[in-house]
Amino acid sequence: MGILSNKISRDEVRPGDHIYSWRTAYLYAHHGIYVDDGLVIEYIRGSSTKLPCRICRGRSKSGGVTSSCLDCFLGGGNLYRYEYNVSKAALLAKVRGGTCTTATSDPPEDVLYRADFLLRENGFGVYDLFENNCETFAIYCKTGLVSCEKNRLGISSGQSTSFVAAAVVVALPGPGFCAYNVARLISDIGMRAKRGDDGVNKVPVEELVDMRNAA
Ligand SMILES: [Zn+2]
Repeated sequence: MGILSNKISRDEVRPGDHIYSWRTAYLYAHHGIYVDDGLVIEYIRGSSTKLPCRICRGRSKSGGVTSSCLDCFLGGGNLYRYEYNVSKAALLAKVRGGTCTTATSDPPEDVLYRADFLLRENGFGVYDLFENNCETFAIYCKTGLVSCEKNRLGISSGQSTSFVAAAVVVALPGPGFCAYNVARLISDIGMRAKRGDDGVNKVPVEELVDMRNAA
């Protein structure tokens, strides 16, 4: 990963950070919001098959927004911090989707408020690998930005883009790498918000939960 790495040590992680850890030999990353005292709020798909550790025992692991200790969150992997407010050039330089965005992060207290509210309400809707995943959850907590397209409520994330991009790379040998990066840039929610894209809106967390409950 070299200079492109966002890897950090446990001493460097701060409340309100969007953190992630690679799973299954870098095939996908698991994302969450670091709270404090080794606690992480995350959005998980289905129920966890792992036995909870002593700290996590008694916490709901039946899917949706849940809390976890940092060790269970990392699952033996390294700790990385998702970067916000990166330049367009830096975004293009990132080889892998899902590690940074040009969107600006709100102050940690806003991030923690959203994450805690969604945890209490389990209010992030139904997990969808492409439209509504652990990365979109963390990006929402950091920015309050959602993308409302095709009457669906979703947040464009690098992780979902990387699946689309993989298809592009297969279809277009040669220029595939460029297509991938352009796709990433186009879908970056920060760029879209800065362009004044109608589909990208800042939505208060109470409203988001109401919208999800009504959907
Ligand atoms: Zn644990």
